[in-house]
Amino acid sequence: MSKLDRRKFLAASAATAGAAATLSRPAEASHGAEEGKFASSIAVLYDATKCIGCRTCMRECALVNDLPAKEREYRGLKYNMPARLDRNTFTIIQTHQEDEHDASAAGREARWSFVKKNCMHCLEPACVTACPVAALQKTPEGPVVYLEDRCFGCRYCMLACPYQVPKYEWVDRMPRVRKCDWNRACVRVCPTGALIEGPRAEMVKEAHQRIRQKPDRYVDHVYGEHEAGGASQLILAGIEHEKLGLPTLPTTVRSHVAEHIMTTLPGWIIGLGLFLGGVYRATMGKEQDNGHGPATHGRNEEAEA
Ligand code: SF4
Ligand code: SF4
Ligand code: SF4
Repeated sequence: MSKLDRRKFLAASAATAGAAATLSRPAEASHGAEEGKFASSIAVLYDATKCIGCRTCMRECALVNDLPAKEREYRGLKYNMPARLDRNTFTIIQTHQEDEHDASAAGREARWSFVKKNCMHCLEPACVTACPVAALQKTPEGPVVYLEDRCFGCRYCMLACPYQVPKYEWVDRMPRVRKCDWNRACVRVCPTGALIEGPRAEMVKEAHQRIRQKPDRYVDHVYGEHEAGGASQLILAGIEHEKLGLPTLPTTVRSHVAEHIMTTLPGWIIGLGLFLGGVYRATMGKEQDNGHGPATHGRNEEAEA
């Protein structure tokens, strides 16, 4: 679909989004209903205790997805050092240190850990439930993928995601939602085995086995096993996951949150989409009448996500 075609689709989508929202909403999901269904789909196990923070995974992700570097300079050397997920950063390695007061109260030195964050590829993704036009879809293999040509920019997915993963190209003329589509490049290049992948049931088993074998090394929790109905990304760590900036979530499915958003957000958002689509089409018509043809995409890579 060309960019102009896509914009026409956006305008048409805005007009029909209300109806589509009603049609696409599944029945209330039950707690953990999908865990068995995705047992043989692919999952990634990230073991923060094996991660050395080399960021090879981030670099490979940027290369494979053709994402520009966010350069920072330190003592004359330039590093690609984004601080958090943004429209050009689909995965991030962060460093977390325990609060020193908490640690000394527990009679030990403050511990620290790396943590890798990206889309969790949830089993029952709130973003998928929230999207009125199925621009986000959970594949049987595991990844939650984004279909750019369907998206009309309502951003329900951003509101629905419990991990605050989807980002938006606010400064772009043809904005997209941006997030990890999970092409598995990061797993392929990790030099320490901190990232492994395999059937989800096996990854869950492996994670629990590691905890059993080395209880002093790990927090007794496989993050992503049950959070928000379970995910295709699992995280083992030596520090409580909430101290690594991972949200504490109920094991109940978050779909009802997404549905709540869709039923309570005002209709003017859809109306605004329709209006902007109309303005854009009028502008495009003038440009074509003047012989200029469709505008170029013209992304502003410098602006923040
Ligand atoms: S982490 Fe957020 S964006 Fe990723 S699948 Fe889950 S709800 Fe969707
Ligand atoms: S912004 Fe998000 S919820 Fe809205 S159409 Fe695009 S992908 Fe779907
Ligand atoms: S490549 Fe592996 S070891 Fe290096 S930062 Fe990424 S997950 Fe950690």
